[in-house]
Amino acid sequence: MNSDVSIYGGVEAGGTKFSCIIGSDPDHILSECSFRTTTPEETLSQVIEFFANAKEPVSAIGIGSFGPVELNQTSKFFGHITNTPKPGWRNTDFAGTIGRALKIPIVFDTDTNAAGLGEIEWGNAQALDYLLYVTIGTGIGGGFIIKRKPLHGLLHPEMGHMRIPHDWTQDPFSGICPFHGDCLEGLASGPAICKRWGALGEDIPPGHPAWILEAQYIAAGLVNLVCALSPQRIILGGGVMKHAELFSGIREKMKELSNRYFAHRQLQDDISEYVVPPKLGERVGVLGALALAKIAFED
Ligand code: ZN
Repeated sequence: MNSDVSIYGGVEAGGTKFSCIIGSDPDHILSECSFRTTTPEETLSQVIEFFANAKEPVSAIGIGSFGPVELNQTSKFFGHITNTPKPGWRNTDFAGTIGRALKIPIVFDTDTNAAGLGEIEWGNAQALDYLLYVTIGTGIGGGFIIKRKPLHGLLHPEMGHMRIPHDWTQDPFSGICPFHGDCLEGLASGPAICKRWGALGEDIPPGHPAWILEAQYIAAGLVNLVCALSPQRIILGGGVMKHAELFSGIREKMKELSNRYFAHRQLQDDISEYVVPPKLGERVGVLGALALAKIAFED
């Protein structure tokens, strides 16, 4: 590897799995590892051990974390995971623990913001100024990237918890969000599909009404986000989106809900260019964490 090229670290922190990576870009990866998310003590120790034992020193580490997280750099809780329902992780000083142990600058953000930056840097959103990245999996989360910077605001966006129309006659399921019941995440996350239909998403066949309903809910959420944010592209990741049939269902439903109001071909006939999967595929999370560090230090 060219010695002039900076080497960074990335940590994708998920509720069930952590992935760590060292390199400069997707074609120049020096080391990677993954392990299960257990207690904060054990899991963060594994992260520290991976980077402490690395042969090449890294300039900075980007962490894309499950949340909610504190992103306000003036807060004494910056870099913490805050009121997560995940047992043991509430109020964990994630960035501080890693930064103090390794004495390396840490760039900390949400998992979806990191994934969005990965797609801006190396994926399906290069050269775009306004990208919406939404993940639909164990939870639903979204990141909005504005000119290579994630939108934070007061806290950070919680797109999965927006309210969407819920026809109780069509779908009597009350939703699973512990805070809101039938918010978008409560109705359309992977665990919601599982609970409503009594089967894992991967075991529900194509053509099943589950997918029609799922496309309807995701499309409703995305049309709201188009109205509010006007993204130039929407990238959809996460385990639920591995069900490829969903993409066409979501696009068609978005066109139907928009009713030709948005005067742009990308929201009408060319919507297949507008709502797309991540080019970085399954590695979008960990490469996004790498991009988080790279962009913070090189832009
Ligand atoms: Zn909710």
